[in-house]
Amino acid sequence: MNCPRCGRALESGFRYCPECGRAADGIASFSEVLDHSFSRISSAEAAVSVEKLSKLSEDLLLLEHELEELAASGQRPRDRRR
Ligand SMILES: [Zn+2]
Repeated sequence: MNCPRCGRALESGFRYCPECGRAADGIASFSEVLDHSFSRISSAEAAVSVEKLSKLSEDLLLLEHELEELAASGQRPRDRRR
């Protein structure tokens, strides 16, 4: 696929365009905010920061999944008055 903004060809697995930092799919609003602030930084710095942030958001997603599993695993043991 190609970057929706600058048209650069993206290899599959790329979450962000290495050229302009645009999200390849999903997470659009998040990266659009980033795009805005990163437009002032050099593109090399921006690419590194975007990579870090994308890892961070992956961690958050993992955490969210763990919490969901925890919540789905039935009654909360500490909260069973009823
Ligand atoms: Zn791009």
